[in-house]
Amino acid sequence: MSKITRRGATKSKSGAKPKSRTAPASRAVKSSGRKQASPKRAPDTKKVKPWTEAEVREAFERFRKANPEPKGELEHLNPFTLLVAVVLSAQATDAGVNRATRALFQVADTPHKMLALGEEKLRDYIKTVGLYRTKARNVIALSRKLIDEFGGEVPRTRAEIESLPGAGRKTANVVLNMAFGERTMAVDTHVFRVGNRTGLAPGKTPLEVELGLERVIPAEFMLHAHHWLILHGRYTCLARQPRCAVCLINDLCRWPEKTI
Ligand code: SF4
Repeated sequence: MSKITRRGATKSKSGAKPKSRTAPASRAVKSSGRKQASPKRAPDTKKVKPWTEAEVREAFERFRKANPEPKGELEHLNPFTLLVAVVLSAQATDAGVNRATRALFQVADTPHKMLALGEEKLRDYIKTVGLYRTKARNVIALSRKLIDEFGGEVPRTRAEIESLPGAGRKTANVVLNMAFGERTMAVDTHVFRVGNRTGLAPGKTPLEVELGLERVIPAEFMLHAHHWLILHGRYTCLARQPRCAVCLINDLCRWPEKTI
Protein backbone atom coordinates (compact mmCIF):
# COMPACT_ATOMS: atom_id res chain seq x y z
CA MET A 1 0.00 0.00 0.00
CA SER A 2 1.46 3.36 -0.89
CA LYS A 3 1.36 6.27 1.46
CA ILE A 4 -1.36 8.76 0.89
CA THR A 5 -0.53 11.97 -0.94
CA ARG A 6 -1.93 15.24 0.22
CA ARG A 7 -2.17 17.03 -3.09
CA GLY A 8 -5.86 16.49 -3.46
CA ALA A 9 -6.74 17.36 0.07
CA THR A 10 -4.89 20.67 0.24
CA LYS A 11 -5.38 23.87 -1.65
CA SER A 12 -1.81 24.29 -2.83
CA LYS A 13 -1.18 23.47 -6.45
CA SER A 14 1.64 21.19 -7.43
CA GLY A 15 4.06 22.16 -10.09
CA ALA A 16 5.10 18.54 -10.60
CA LYS A 17 4.78 17.14 -14.07
CA PRO A 18 1.65 14.97 -14.13
CA LYS A 19 1.65 11.35 -15.11
CA SER A 20 -0.07 10.44 -18.34
CA ARG A 21 -3.38 8.64 -17.86
CA THR A 22 -5.84 7.59 -20.47
CA ALA A 23 -8.71 5.71 -18.84
CA PRO A 24 -12.06 7.45 -19.40
CA ALA A 25 -14.15 8.55 -16.46
CA SER A 26 -17.03 6.23 -17.11
CA ARG A 27 -14.88 3.23 -17.88
CA ALA A 28 -15.91 0.15 -15.96
CA VAL A 29 -12.42 -0.50 -14.71
CA LYS A 30 -11.95 -3.18 -12.14
CA SER A 31 -9.89 -2.27 -9.16
CA SER A 32 -9.52 -2.98 -5.52
CA GLY A 33 -6.96 -0.28 -4.77
CA ARG A 34 -5.19 -1.64 -1.75
CA LYS A 35 -3.07 1.39 -1.07
CA GLN A 36 -2.99 2.31 2.55
CA ALA A 37 -4.12 5.73 3.62
CA SER A 38 -1.62 7.06 6.14
CA PRO A 39 -1.85 10.84 6.02
CA LYS A 40 0.87 12.98 7.52
CA ARG A 41 -0.91 16.31 7.32
CA ALA A 42 -4.50 17.21 7.87
CA PRO A 43 -6.47 18.51 4.88
CA ASP A 44 -7.93 21.97 4.97
CA THR A 45 -11.63 21.22 5.06
CA LYS A 46 -12.91 24.17 7.06
CA LYS A 47 -14.76 25.88 4.22
CA VAL A 48 -16.25 22.83 2.54
CA LYS A 49 -20.01 23.07 2.20
CA PRO A 50 -21.58 19.73 3.16
CA TRP A 51 -23.33 17.78 0.44
CA THR A 52 -27.09 17.54 0.63
CA GLU A 53 -28.72 14.12 0.72
CA ALA A 54 -30.02 14.69 -2.78
CA GLU A 55 -26.54 15.50 -4.08
CA VAL A 56 -25.02 12.37 -2.54
CA ARG A 57 -27.76 10.24 -4.02
CA GLU A 58 -27.30 11.88 -7.41
CA ALA A 59 -23.55 11.20 -7.35
CA PHE A 60 -23.92 7.53 -6.55
CA GLU A 61 -26.72 7.05 -9.04
CA ARG A 62 -24.30 8.34 -11.66
CA PHE A 63 -21.56 5.98 -10.48
CA ARG A 64 -23.99 3.08 -10.55
CA LYS A 65 -25.25 3.94 -14.01
CA ALA A 66 -21.69 4.11 -15.36
CA ASN A 67 -20.56 0.89 -13.69
CA PRO A 68 -23.38 -1.15 -12.13
CA GLU A 69 -21.20 -4.00 -10.79
CA PRO A 70 -17.73 -2.70 -9.91
CA LYS A 71 -15.22 -5.37 -8.93
CA GLY A 72 -11.89 -5.48 -7.18
CA GLU A 73 -8.74 -5.96 -9.17
CA LEU A 74 -6.88 -8.25 -6.76
CA GLU A 75 -7.06 -11.79 -8.11
CA HIS A 76 -8.23 -14.44 -5.65
CA LEU A 77 -9.97 -17.79 -5.54
CA ASN A 78 -11.71 -17.76 -2.19
CA PRO A 79 -11.86 -15.70 1.04
CA PHE A 80 -8.48 -17.05 2.17
CA THR A 81 -6.66 -16.09 -1.02
CA LEU A 82 -8.39 -12.71 -0.95
CA LEU A 83 -7.12 -12.19 2.59
CA VAL A 84 -3.61 -13.18 1.56
CA ALA A 85 -3.72 -10.92 -1.50
CA VAL A 86 -4.85 -7.96 0.58
CA VAL A 87 -2.09 -8.55 3.14
CA LEU A 88 0.46 -8.75 0.31
CA SER A 89 -0.85 -5.56 -1.27
CA ALA A 90 0.47 -3.29 1.45
CA GLN A 91 2.76 -0.79 -0.29
CA ALA A 92 2.41 -2.70 -3.55
CA THR A 93 0.26 -2.45 -6.64
CA ASP A 94 -2.57 -4.85 -7.38
CA ALA A 95 -0.89 -5.80 -10.65
CA GLY A 96 2.36 -6.63 -8.86
CA VAL A 97 0.56 -8.76 -6.28
CA ASN A 98 -1.39 -10.56 -9.00
CA ARG A 99 1.80 -11.46 -10.84
CA ALA A 100 3.07 -13.17 -7.69
CA THR A 101 -0.13 -14.80 -6.51
CA ARG A 102 -1.15 -16.40 -9.80
CA ALA A 103 1.46 -19.09 -9.30
CA LEU A 104 1.26 -19.09 -5.51
CA PHE A 105 -2.46 -19.74 -5.35
CA GLN A 106 -2.11 -22.69 -7.71
CA VAL A 107 -0.19 -24.49 -4.99
CA ALA A 108 -1.51 -22.83 -1.84
CA ASP A 109 -5.14 -21.74 -1.80
CA THR A 110 -5.93 -22.85 1.75
CA PRO A 111 -4.29 -22.22 5.13
CA HIS A 112 -3.21 -25.87 5.34
CA LYS A 113 -1.53 -25.76 1.93
CA MET A 114 0.13 -22.46 2.80
CA LEU A 115 1.59 -23.97 5.97
CA ALA A 116 2.71 -27.03 4.03
CA LEU A 117 4.42 -24.76 1.51
CA GLY A 118 6.38 -23.10 4.28
CA GLU A 119 7.81 -19.64 4.75
CA GLU A 120 10.95 -20.15 2.69
CA LYS A 121 9.16 -21.34 -0.44
CA LEU A 122 6.47 -18.71 0.06
CA ARG A 123 9.18 -16.05 -0.01
CA ASP A 124 10.28 -17.32 -3.41
CA TYR A 125 6.78 -16.87 -4.81
CA ILE A 126 6.35 -13.33 -3.51
CA LYS A 127 9.88 -11.96 -3.66
CA THR A 128 8.85 -9.40 -6.29
CA VAL A 129 6.43 -7.85 -3.82
CA GLY A 130 7.68 -5.14 -1.48
CA LEU A 131 8.38 -6.14 2.12
CA TYR A 132 8.07 -9.76 1.08
CA ARG A 133 10.01 -11.20 4.00
CA THR A 134 7.70 -9.64 6.58
CA LYS A 135 4.67 -10.47 4.50
CA ALA A 136 5.71 -14.11 4.13
CA ARG A 137 6.10 -14.34 7.88
CA ASN A 138 2.65 -12.82 8.38
CA VAL A 139 0.95 -15.06 5.82
CA ILE A 140 2.37 -18.18 7.47
CA ALA A 141 1.39 -16.90 10.90
CA LEU A 142 -2.11 -15.96 9.85
CA SER A 143 -2.55 -19.35 8.16
CA ARG A 144 -1.55 -21.06 11.39
CA LYS A 145 -3.93 -18.88 13.37
CA LEU A 146 -6.80 -19.58 10.98
CA ILE A 147 -6.26 -23.31 11.52
CA ASP A 148 -5.72 -23.12 15.27
CA GLU A 149 -8.51 -20.68 16.11
CA PHE A 150 -10.98 -20.48 13.26
CA GLY A 151 -11.27 -23.98 11.88
CA GLY A 152 -9.25 -23.11 8.80
CA GLU A 153 -11.81 -20.52 7.67
CA VAL A 154 -11.54 -16.76 7.33
CA PRO A 155 -13.60 -15.31 10.19
CA ARG A 156 -16.51 -12.99 9.46
CA THR A 157 -16.11 -10.30 12.08
CA ARG A 158 -13.94 -7.23 11.91
CA ALA A 159 -12.31 -7.89 15.27
CA GLU A 160 -11.38 -11.44 14.34
CA ILE A 161 -9.93 -10.46 10.98
CA GLU A 162 -7.99 -7.61 12.56
CA SER A 163 -6.52 -10.09 15.04
CA LEU A 164 -4.72 -11.90 12.22
CA PRO A 165 -1.03 -11.12 11.62
CA GLY A 166 -0.60 -8.48 8.91
CA ALA A 167 -4.28 -7.55 8.82
CA GLY A 168 -5.65 -4.19 9.93
CA ARG A 169 -8.91 -2.32 9.69
CA LYS A 170 -8.69 -1.73 5.96
CA THR A 171 -7.88 -5.38 5.30
CA ALA A 172 -10.89 -6.37 7.37
CA ASN A 173 -13.11 -3.93 5.49
CA VAL A 174 -11.97 -5.23 2.11
CA VAL A 175 -12.45 -8.88 3.08
CA LEU A 176 -15.82 -8.25 4.70
CA ASN A 177 -16.98 -6.36 1.63
CA MET A 178 -15.59 -8.51 -1.15
CA ALA A 179 -15.78 -11.97 0.40
CA PHE A 180 -18.85 -11.65 2.57
CA GLY A 181 -20.91 -8.86 1.02
CA GLU A 182 -20.80 -6.59 4.06
CA ARG A 183 -21.46 -2.88 3.52
CA THR A 184 -18.05 -1.75 4.70
CA MET A 185 -15.96 1.17 3.47
CA ALA A 186 -12.25 0.46 3.13
CA VAL A 187 -10.37 3.74 2.88
CA ASP A 188 -7.21 3.58 0.82
CA THR A 189 -5.24 6.47 -0.62
CA HIS A 190 -7.76 6.96 -3.46
CA VAL A 191 -10.85 6.92 -1.27
CA PHE A 192 -9.16 9.24 1.21
CA ARG A 193 -8.33 11.73 -1.54
CA VAL A 194 -11.77 11.61 -3.12
CA GLY A 195 -13.54 11.87 0.22
CA ASN A 196 -11.61 15.01 1.05
CA ARG A 197 -11.44 16.69 -2.35
CA THR A 198 -15.08 16.31 -3.16
CA GLY A 199 -16.13 17.33 0.31
CA LEU A 200 -18.21 14.16 0.61
CA ALA A 201 -16.49 13.13 3.83
CA PRO A 202 -13.66 15.42 4.86
CA GLY A 203 -11.36 13.89 7.43
CA LYS A 204 -7.85 14.05 8.79
CA THR A 205 -7.50 10.30 9.11
CA PRO A 206 -8.70 7.29 7.11
CA LEU A 207 -11.02 6.38 9.97
CA GLU A 208 -12.63 9.83 9.93
CA VAL A 209 -13.21 9.54 6.19
CA GLU A 210 -14.51 5.99 6.55
CA LEU A 211 -17.03 6.97 9.20
CA GLY A 212 -17.97 10.12 7.29
CA LEU A 213 -18.66 8.17 4.13
CA GLU A 214 -20.68 5.59 6.02
CA ARG A 215 -22.71 8.44 7.48
CA VAL A 216 -23.58 10.17 4.21
CA ILE A 217 -23.84 7.36 1.64
CA PRO A 218 -27.32 5.83 1.42
CA ALA A 219 -27.40 2.16 2.42
CA GLU A 220 -28.46 1.02 -1.04
CA PHE A 221 -25.12 2.19 -2.46
CA MET A 222 -22.82 0.99 0.30
CA LEU A 223 -22.08 -2.46 -1.07
CA HIS A 224 -20.32 -0.99 -4.11
CA ALA A 225 -19.42 2.47 -2.83
CA HIS A 226 -15.91 1.36 -1.87
CA HIS A 227 -15.08 0.31 -5.42
CA TRP A 228 -16.83 3.23 -7.09
CA LEU A 229 -14.76 5.67 -5.06
CA ILE A 230 -11.50 3.76 -5.61
CA LEU A 231 -12.11 3.65 -9.34
CA HIS A 232 -13.00 7.32 -9.34
CA GLY A 233 -9.77 8.18 -7.57
CA ARG A 234 -7.64 5.85 -9.63
CA TYR A 235 -8.87 6.76 -13.09
CA THR A 236 -10.54 10.17 -12.85
CA CYS A 237 -9.79 12.11 -9.69
CA LEU A 238 -6.05 11.54 -10.08
CA ALA A 239 -3.74 12.76 -7.38
CA ARG A 240 -1.62 15.02 -9.56
CA GLN A 241 -3.90 15.90 -12.43
CA PRO A 242 -7.58 15.23 -11.78
CA ARG A 243 -9.57 14.79 -14.96
CA CYS A 244 -12.30 17.16 -13.93
CA ALA A 245 -13.50 17.81 -17.47
CA VAL A 246 -14.69 14.21 -17.81
CA CYS A 247 -15.64 13.69 -14.16
CA LEU A 248 -19.11 12.33 -13.59
CA ILE A 249 -19.64 14.48 -10.52
CA ASN A 250 -17.78 17.64 -11.47
CA ASP A 251 -20.86 19.79 -10.91
CA LEU A 252 -21.25 18.41 -7.38
CA CYS A 253 -17.60 18.37 -6.32
CA ARG A 254 -16.59 21.00 -3.77
CA TRP A 255 -12.87 21.10 -4.54
CA PRO A 256 -11.88 24.74 -5.16
CA GLU A 257 -9.16 23.69 -7.59
CA LYS A 258 -11.29 21.51 -9.82
CA THR A 259 -10.42 22.34 -13.40
CA ILE A 260 -13.83 23.03 -14.94
S1 SF4 B 1 -14.31 17.55 -10.29
FE1 SF4 B 1 -14.09 15.30 -10.19
S2 SF4 B 1 -11.98 14.89 -10.85
FE2 SF4 B 1 -12.11 17.07 -10.34
S3 SF4 B 1 -11.46 17.21 -8.19
FE3 SF4 B 1 -13.70 17.00 -8.20
S4 SF4 B 1 -14.10 14.80 -8.01
FE4 SF4 B 1 -11.96 15.05 -8.60
